[in-house]
Amino acid sequence: MLGELRIIVQKVNSASDLQSALNIIVSCVRESLHTKVCSVYLYDSDVDGYMLMASEGLNEKAVRQVSLRADEGLVGLVAKNAEPINLEDASNHPSYYYLEETGEESFNAFLGVPIIHHRKVLGVLIVQNEEVRRFDEGEEAFLVTLSAQLAGVIAHAEATGAISGLSPSGHKVKDTIFQGISGSSGVAIGKAVVVFPQAELSQVPERQAEDIEKEIEFFNNCLKAVQQDMKSLHAKIEHQIAEEERQLFDVYARMLDDDALGNEVVERIRLGSWAQGALAYVAHEHLKVFEAIEDEYLRERAVDVKDLCNRVLLYLQRKKPFIPEYSENSILVSGELTPSMIAEVPRSKLKGLVSINGAGNSHVAILARTMGIPTVMGATDLPLSLVEGKKIVLDGNEGVVFSNPSELLLKNYSEAIIEQDQFIAGLERLKDYPCETIDNHRVHLWMNTGLMSDITTSFDQSVEGVGLFRTEVPFILNERFPSEKEQVQIYRKQLESFAPRTVTMRTLDVGGDKDLPYFPIEEANPFLGWRGIRVTLDHPEIFILQIRAMLRASYKLENLQIMLPMISNVGEVEAAIQLIKRGHHELLQEGLSIKFPPVGVMIELPAAVYQARALAKLVDFISVGSNDLTQYLLGVDRNNPRVAGLYSAFHPAVLGSLNSIVKEVKLEGKPVSICGEMAGDPGGAVLLMAMGFDILSMNSAALLKVKSVIRSVNYLGAKDLLDSVMKMDDMRAIRKEVDLMLYNSGVDRVLRSSRAN
Ligand code: PEP
Ligand code: MG
Repeated sequence: MLGELRIIVQKVNSASDLQSALNIIVSCVRESLHTKVCSVYLYDSDVDGYMLMASEGLNEKAVRQVSLRADEGLVGLVAKNAEPINLEDASNHPSYYYLEETGEESFNAFLGVPIIHHRKVLGVLIVQNEEVRRFDEGEEAFLVTLSAQLAGVIAHAEATGAISGLSPSGHKVKDTIFQGISGSSGVAIGKAVVVFPQAELSQVPERQAEDIEKEIEFFNNCLKAVQQDMKSLHAKIEHQIAEEERQLFDVYARMLDDDALGNEVVERIRLGSWAQGALAYVAHEHLKVFEAIEDEYLRERAVDVKDLCNRVLLYLQRKKPFIPEYSENSILVSGELTPSMIAEVPRSKLKGLVSINGAGNSHVAILARTMGIPTVMGATDLPLSLVEGKKIVLDGNEGVVFSNPSELLLKNYSEAIIEQDQFIAGLERLKDYPCETIDNHRVHLWMNTGLMSDITTSFDQSVEGVGLFRTEVPFILNERFPSEKEQVQIYRKQLESFAPRTVTMRTLDVGGDKDLPYFPIEEANPFLGWRGIRVTLDHPEIFILQIRAMLRASYKLENLQIMLPMISNVGEVEAAIQLIKRGHHELLQEGLSIKFPPVGVMIELPAAVYQARALAKLVDFISVGSNDLTQYLLGVDRNNPRVAGLYSAFHPAVLGSLNSIVKEVKLEGKPVSICGEMAGDPGGAVLLMAMGFDILSMNSAALLKVKSVIRSVNYLGAKDLLDSVMKMDDMRAIRKEVDLMLYNSGVDRVLRSSRAN
């Protein structure tokens, strides 16, 4: 049975359009279950009912002609209840509705199962037989399983029609929505430009080289051309993104060096292969290793390798790289966006980004936030091959893309864009004002650096420090652990840029979704596994080296504080402090008189919430990592688009935890800050201020927005708001209450999560 299911799904998957997919389904199911009839009805908003889209066994002429209203017949009942109905004699059922055109009067046995995709009933799959007999349990289970598997394929096939403005039954539709998740906020209207790796490595055939030496020379020339391209790209984006991100292009160029990938290809050519085949072989071997690992970061490296090899292949195929035409309002769409695809578009023309794969935390989304480009990630149903050149509306706040926009939708979004641009431009003037409420309550805004590091561009000088420097970036961008000296250079630059302001450096936080290419961690549950402090305590040599580098870098600046991630018990803190002391002692012995830095703990795990006071006793400060805390409290993977709707820092459990952390830490008289994304959310920042967080640390793009909100509200009003939301049970109601307060305080709607009012 499993084999049969698999074969049907494979066949349906290979169908070219919705109608062929449905025809395959009805034919295969009828054959597998030995029934007389198999039909599919799909919901069509045009007729607000279920249209008979395909059938084997019913009258052919009825197909795409007859439909049932949403509340009509057994089909309507299956859809309404979203449950199967299995009857020995359909005509005896009170909901039975006879459709004359179908010729179904001769069939008694009826089994209908709903086709459900993302909680939405797309349609109903039905089998019928002449005899008076209920379908057995096995048959019912088979149909339910098949329907669940086919729902995604049907949804995709429907979307393929919808992108061209057609409903399942071929009627014209407008404002088709493709759901994804927010990668970077903001809205855009533009023309879709689909970018894709042009040369297709998987299609290169194996061949013998005619002249091995010539082939090697040809390959080396192509390699040099790509290296040159990468260098120009690097230069082109110099003033657009931070140094850390630019270094990625250097890593690309190095991957092509003679002693890395390039060398392996040359070796294979020496064995007799032509250059293209050798490249495809080597790329394939590397990709197999990368793609077999269930790790998001490494998967992204696989994309990088593929991207690079495709560029070399283009030169090998003696083709000029295809340069798409970028209109004034280009929205880049790709199966898997890569940093280099973004870099190729002139910044002034790039209005938005859409990636079919990936989630809110993938490298491209982070880069997009750094560059301030509205972005939708994980728009899995958007039919990539058909979107080229189409006018689309992108809403990075809601994480949705619209095709076939109506005049009304365009008008609404055009107004939103004007409002958004004016608002962002207006924020600049806030740089010279303090971050305080109307009733003069001061709030300390700090900045997160590292992944979203932005020290190359001017930042708000009223920013009082760095609340989180994610040190894993230099580790991720390297091909081995960076040496002490290399780390010192990187850390020194951070500390110098912000001196005399404090820079909070987090010790290496790898594992989970952040693996090092040269230190892979393969685990069934990486977020519950070897992560953060757990890795570094098990590798004191790596930990002490990093501590020594941080301390050395702080020499005579003395603006460093060190923070420990993923702490779940006091033993870890004690052990880490011992190692920090050891590193410090070593440096003192080496003659460097460096001040011992303040040490803090991140609260990211539910266990740490309950131990907040005990942890605060051991250290100089506490900082809450609300991204992970939300993930672990709610049991929702923060990178997974499927469960993105459940992830909210406004959940009462999260708010209750945050409030309790502040109270507990204050009992020890220690400062408490927050460095998760919630601090950069305008409504979130108001609640956090009211809870009593001493410092809110956020990415640079959020700083002025939060300052603007803080300057619009009353501290006492924020306290009242907190009191009332702490009594509420539902995260959606809480979000609404916060929005209402912002609305009443005159906060611009660009900064509110609900933009309807
Ligand atoms: C957090 O978890 O909130 C945090 C700031 O750390 P990261 O996002 O790097 O896991
Ligand atoms: Mg974290």
